[in-house]
Amino acid sequence: MNVASMPFHEADGWLPDSWQRRTALQQPHYEDPAELARVLDELARLPPLVTSWEVLALKRALAEAQEGKRFLLQGGDCAESFADCTSPIISNRLKVLLQMSLVLVHGLKQPVLRVGRFAGQYAKPRSADTETREGVTLPSFRGDIVNGPAFTAAARRADPQRLLQAHAHSALTMNFVRALIDGGFADLHHPEYWDLAWVEHAPLAAEYRRMVAAIGDSLRFMETLAGPVAGFSRVDFFTSHEALVLHYEQALTRQVPRHPGWFNLSTHFPWIGMRTAALDGAHVEYFRGIRNPIAVKVGPSVTPDALLALIDVLDPENEPGRLTLIHRMGHAQIAAKLPPLLDAVKRAGRRVLWVADPMHGNTESTSNGYKTRRFDNIRGELDQAFDIHAAAGTRLGGVHLELTGENVTECLGGARDLSEADLERAYKSAVDPRLNYEQSLELAMLIVRKSAA
Ligand code: PEP
Ligand code: MN
Repeated sequence: MNVASMPFHEADGWLPDSWQRRTALQQPHYEDPAELARVLDELARLPPLVTSWEVLALKRALAEAQEGKRFLLQGGDCAESFADCTSPIISNRLKVLLQMSLVLVHGLKQPVLRVGRFAGQYAKPRSADTETREGVTLPSFRGDIVNGPAFTAAARRADPQRLLQAHAHSALTMNFVRALIDGGFADLHHPEYWDLAWVEHAPLAAEYRRMVAAIGDSLRFMETLAGPVAGFSRVDFFTSHEALVLHYEQALTRQVPRHPGWFNLSTHFPWIGMRTAALDGAHVEYFRGIRNPIAVKVGPSVTPDALLALIDVLDPENEPGRLTLIHRMGHAQIAAKLPPLLDAVKRAGRRVLWVADPMHGNTESTSNGYKTRRFDNIRGELDQAFDIHAAAGTRLGGVHLELTGENVTECLGGARDLSEADLERAYKSAVDPRLNYEQSLELAMLIVRKSAA
């Protein structure tokens, strides 16, 4: 079915603000409601960050991924920060994602759908509302869209002006990414544009270079026969973030002239985090009414019945491309928790895109106080995910990763076998530990090897 031509059914009693009648978890507490209202008015007047045309194009591409014709690569920082809205950090992140997608395209022999966790990934759910250090208790850091990471009362105050700053930084990021891509940065003829300075010394560099050479050869061969191949000069890039702070998302929820219904135009592809996916909660209420393709994180505590109830509310029409389920079980739990969910969804005849997030179920703390993830556990969960889907007769259609183009040391292991002592060297994340460039490429190569097996 053609998604764009589907009739739109105004969801019962839904409006962009109807979530406010439900319990909204993980929301900032603003001291001055009048200031918040002024900011939200201003935000609602500013232009959106994406268009409904792009959103529907992504939905069609996701529908193809559901049919097994595309593989989704979704990745970026756990949390973007305003300070990291810089040219090198944005372009390095894009380079890693492009290199990974090149590995995947080559190995999977299938188009890869590229979705960044960026241009709006500024809000974080937290396990505790407050943080105590040396007897001082302050509100937790909830991402730059809410407050600042420094441990001072001033920084930790929820500041409505940050909603406007988040919109502006998202627009700056988006503008730069769009300009790079339109200017030919993502042209498959020039993968050398994506080399990061330290790739020369990476243990995996040789394998990657062999792959690039092979792709260059086949591209030249095809173009000798058939002339320039348009699709290879340009790639699409879409954006996503956890739509957590609902006042912000509501202000960017718009109606447009040519497409019926309401669109969240702060991003192409918003997702509901694991902590805010309650069936009767505010986030599910908000998401059910927007026309974007949407994703939900699914953790080990979700039962098959609960998942089916959630699908009924979020995708009552079983619409192509509408719903992506991102499972994040942890390497130790995936074997027990995932099969019943796959089975239930399959038997109910529900059309979803299954994606693995091998990061969030594998977070731990080291003896020297760092939040980290072991590369072996990340790889182990992903490895099992492919096997479990194969056994269930379902398809793992994508991965969701936290990564950066910077040479950080936040996750343990990988080709350079980073140790706990290495974490002190270049741990930069204010929230979750990210895969660095080498670890990301290694995972892309693993996906290719698994899919070929
Ligand atoms: C995240 O994606 O950063 C996150 C908090 O994930 P989850 O909701 O799966 O815990
Ligand atoms: Mn995270």
